[in-house]
Amino acid sequence: MSIKIRCNDYGYECDHVLDEELTMGLIGKLRDHFEEEHGLDYTIEAVTQMITNRGHSLESIKK
Ligand SMILES: [Zn+2]
Repeated sequence: MSIKIRCNDYGYECDHVLDEELTMGLIGKLRDHFEEEHGLDYTIEAVTQMITNRGHSLESIKK
């Protein structure tokens, strides 16, 4: 099952959307996007936290 992650939902005025299965790879892509587009050097842990804060359980994230 894929999920939609909109950069906009995380507080940035940005139309970047990731629409794919929730995996560590997806979290890595989102992290890279924050760094490349917004100059934010988040850790994987921080981005994982942002996603779980939006109601996605840690268990639902595939390795
Ligand atoms: Zn963005």
